Amino acid sequence: MSAGRRPGAAGSDAATGPDRPLRVAVDQDRCCGSGMCVLTAPGVFDQRDEDGIVVLLDERPHAELWRQVRDAESGCPSQAIEVSEECQEGEVSQVSEECEE
Ligand code: SF4
Repeated sequence: MSAGRRPGAAGSDAATGPDRPLRVAVDQDRCCGSGMCVLTAPGVFDQRDEDGIVVLLDERPHAELWRQVRDAESGCPSQAIEVSEECQEGEVSQVSEECEE
């Protein structure tokens, strides 16, 4: 059920998203397999064929997908998706204000 990045989707999402790159993580032990994330951001999430548990396809999605990733995080009924802003390489923060300039 995987899908690639949507061509031609660049622009508005990147313009309204955070300045820093996003890093995505999933907790497969919390996932209930609802599939909401796959519907919201099919280029970033997929589900295992055997049980529907989430599979992360892209840990550092392109800016054009940031809005979808944020929506997937907020819409996950199991709170199994964590989106962090990457301050520097290897350093992440839950909120952008925590990142040092
Ligand atoms: S929305 Fe959450 S619970 Fe549903 S498949 Fe995705 S990670 Fe799992």
